[in-house]
Amino acid sequence: MSGAAPVLAPEAVIGILGGGQLGRMLALAAARLGFKCHVYSPSPDSPAFEVVHRVTCADYNDTEALDRFAADVDVVTYEFENVPADTATFLAVRVPVLPDPQILATTQDRLAEKRFVAKLGIPTAAFADVTAPGELAAAMAKIGQPAVLKTRRYGYDGKGQATIRNGGDPATAWREVGGQPCILEAFVPFEREVSVVAARAHDGAIECFDVTENEHRDHILKISRVPAALPESATQEARRIAETIARQFNYVGVLAVEMFVLKNGSQLLVNEIAPRVHNSGHWTLDGASVSQFEQHIRAVAGWPLAKPIRHGRVEMTNLIGNEVEDYRGWLGVPGAAVHLYGKTAVRPGRKMGHVTRVFAE
Ligand code: AMP
Repeated sequence: MSGAAPVLAPEAVIGILGGGQLGRMLALAAARLGFKCHVYSPSPDSPAFEVVHRVTCADYNDTEALDRFAADVDVVTYEFENVPADTATFLAVRVPVLPDPQILATTQDRLAEKRFVAKLGIPTAAFADVTAPGELAAAMAKIGQPAVLKTRRYGYDGKGQATIRNGGDPATAWREVGGQPCILEAFVPFEREVSVVAARAHDGAIECFDVTENEHRDHILKISRVPAALPESATQEARRIAETIARQFNYVGVLAVEMFVLKNGSQLLVNEIAPRVHNSGHWTLDGASVSQFEQHIRAVAGWPLAKPIRHGRVEMTNLIGNEVEDYRGWLGVPGAAVHLYGKTAVRPGRKMGHVTRVFAE
């Protein structure tokens, strides 16, 4: 049943796999349109549980719980790409799952994802397969140094990756990432990092938000700025890349494409595809006429997409770990919109909230 997009009435129930802040913000956007959400997550302290009509706290392989979940919802989507592809496939036999579970299988594996992008003729960093340690030497010979070793699966926010500098020891990097199947990527001397958050509806219509420039600290997104400082040609190219990927996947929902920008916007290299709403699109909640969360809900509900209009120059700052304590200061900043995710445990590197500011252009 995946891929079929029913047109839902506002009182319908949208099932969300994953209970993090993305699920929470999706559910809030859904509620504004009159939908109810049922969140399925194995974690009892899921931030999304607090804002929805129904919750299931069970493992992703609990088939009885999945059966009950499927019977309660009209469509299933996910807020997190590491939902096991088997879970999504199991549900797709019972209820429409959007985006299609096959997309998860591609985007969960960096090698499959890079090959998919390269096949579309879209540039990426040079990469090589390192499924076993015996393949490291050949990969190093092909890619050169410096290079980045990345686990094929379950990497995020810089986890599961190690940089091999000139003269560095690949065996150390292999141990650092836990000795799992990897890809080796050429280190990209990028000028800036950007992303395009795009929505595609079941009828094939696509709407991209403006290209966003992303600043990372310790591999974690810290600040997003819109619009990105790119020449017009690179802006158009970034949108074209995201649209091509969305179309090729026959995608329904919101996806984000992260890209590296080389000197003066002369070239864009795709780094990663996120088959979900994305942190670099949080600015849309306060900085645009429609948010990425509403666009995603509209798409999976079979509704038409909105044409996003940006309200000005926008800056989104993540509150990471202890920085959440700054929220009181932010409350007093004129024009600042504070979002807190309701997470009780503060851990270093954990995304606890964000703040958006919109400025006249
Ligand atoms: P990723 O998990 O692939 O999104 O990587 C997290 C961050 O690490 C990126 O946003 C970049 O800042 C950095 N990074 C990843 N891959 C490369 C690369 N091939 N060259 C340079 N920096 C990279």
